[in-house]
Amino acid sequence: MADSCNVLMIYPKFNPRSFWSYDGACELLGAKYPAAPLGMITLAAMLPKSWDIRLVNRNTEELDPADLDWADMVMTGGMLAQRPDCMKVIELAQNRGKAVVIGGPDVTSSPEAYADADLRVLGEAENIIDEFIAAWGRGERSGLFESPRFQVDVTKTPIPRFDLLKKGHYIYPTVQFSRGCPFMCEFCDIIELYGRVPRTKMPEQMLAELDRLYELGWRGHLDFVDDNLIGNKKAVKAFLPHLIEWQKKHKYPFMLSTEASLNLADDSQLLELMKQANFFAVFVGIESADEETLVHTQKKQNTRRSIPESVHRIYDAGMFVAAGFIVGFDTEKGGVANSLISCIEESRIPIANVSLLYALAGTQLTRRLEREQRLRPDYEIDRRGNAGDFALAGLNFEPARPRRDILGDFATVLTSIYESKTYFARARRMVLSLNRINLGFGIQLRDSWLEFDKFIRIMWHISRHRPEMRGYVWRLLGECMIRNPRAVRAVMTMSLFYLFLGPLSRMMVEVAEAQIAEIDAAGGAVESVIPLPVVAATAA
Ligand code: SF4
Repeated sequence: MADSCNVLMIYPKFNPRSFWSYDGACELLGAKYPAAPLGMITLAAMLPKSWDIRLVNRNTEELDPADLDWADMVMTGGMLAQRPDCMKVIELAQNRGKAVVIGGPDVTSSPEAYADADLRVLGEAENIIDEFIAAWGRGERSGLFESPRFQVDVTKTPIPRFDLLKKGHYIYPTVQFSRGCPFMCEFCDIIELYGRVPRTKMPEQMLAELDRLYELGWRGHLDFVDDNLIGNKKAVKAFLPHLIEWQKKHKYPFMLSTEASLNLADDSQLLELMKQANFFAVFVGIESADEETLVHTQKKQNTRRSIPESVHRIYDAGMFVAAGFIVGFDTEKGGVANSLISCIEESRIPIANVSLLYALAGTQLTRRLEREQRLRPDYEIDRRGNAGDFALAGLNFEPARPRRDILGDFATVLTSIYESKTYFARARRMVLSLNRINLGFGIQLRDSWLEFDKFIRIMWHISRHRPEMRGYVWRLLGECMIRNPRAVRAVMTMSLFYLFLGPLSRMMVEVAEAQIAEIDAAGGAVESVIPLPVVAATAA
């Protein structure tokens, strides 16, 4: 093993105009980017203690050439949506004579796309890192290291190096309890990357991570990045009582969010535990309101149920639901726009991430489309350089319905649900039904005081710069303070989201309409050449 090594970790840029970037909202919250890069700081904790590590997140800061000069090794990698910037990082580092190591989900799914990197690490790092460190120590500066699939014992995963994060850069830090998901949604790459048997950390291991964050001064929002937190219900139910105790002991320093499958709504014990742990938000993949489509895409956990009623049960446990929806499935029929709009309205879901179906490398969907010879040759990164763009560069295959009709439905849904009046009507119905945990007057007052400056900044900005939403926000705030004061923070969250979702949805509609016009002009058979924004993957 090399006794010393200067490691520069570089987290590549996402497109700033995506659903997950909170474009324009970060600044109001005094941050530069929503979520801290957990994968890189987890990897950092596995490297030898004698190695020096610097972390540069290109989403929050510039890469200083002096950092590159300092480095012996550059580590980078991420998701498909980061691939274009990752390629730039590889080039920048190699131009300065540095060896580049690439890891993460995208190189695992598509190793050949990163043939230019010096060293490639595929799969989860824990089982391969010692081999990699030994090879580096022997002076090897090229090679491919592949971790056996789904074998990592996450109970041995070290506490991430939270100390490497620049605290002021992020809205919230992140932790991970489990990897993998038991379901088999056809379009999902999570099950291909992490398997269908969820592996979970030990309660004491998670609490040690929370202790570390607490020691470092983090408070407020904390996100569990699990693709499906409830994939192993037995394990999460065993963990949550410990989490509740920890939260009580520390006077609830964290408000929690996560992703989970919709069958969460079927388990009242689990809902109650999450409520008591102070979960306030959950992202759920609903995808479609059409039963046949859900069956065909193997999202069976969403079938044989009333989706709105399931969502309402989650509200009753004090968590608001943000949800993913997809247009472009083979089994869709005309009228899909209306059924999606009705589902979103009846479920009272203000924040809906509506995307076009996207075939990701290595998924069952992509394998099927390949067999059916429907996959576009440039399906991963198209000729415009768009990668992983779920919102508009989706449909990277030949769809069953006319592309024009799908784009039309997509634009119709976005136009309807993100009109100020309809958005805030849903927000109102959701917020008034949100049965938030009662943390007690003292903690509630403390949290309000801690967030008071953000509250003033948001309200000032809306009042001055966003007349189309000003009236709705003030009215909703007033009504919520009288009728459901414990949910006031959700009003701020909904308002903050609308600050960027309003303009983002209008831009997406414009691009979709331009694509339709282009198809029409070419007599129905042309690819779009309009530059598109990137929206990252969703799961659960
Ligand atoms: S989309 Fe979500 S629920 Fe479906 S397999 Fe992937 S992680 Fe699981």
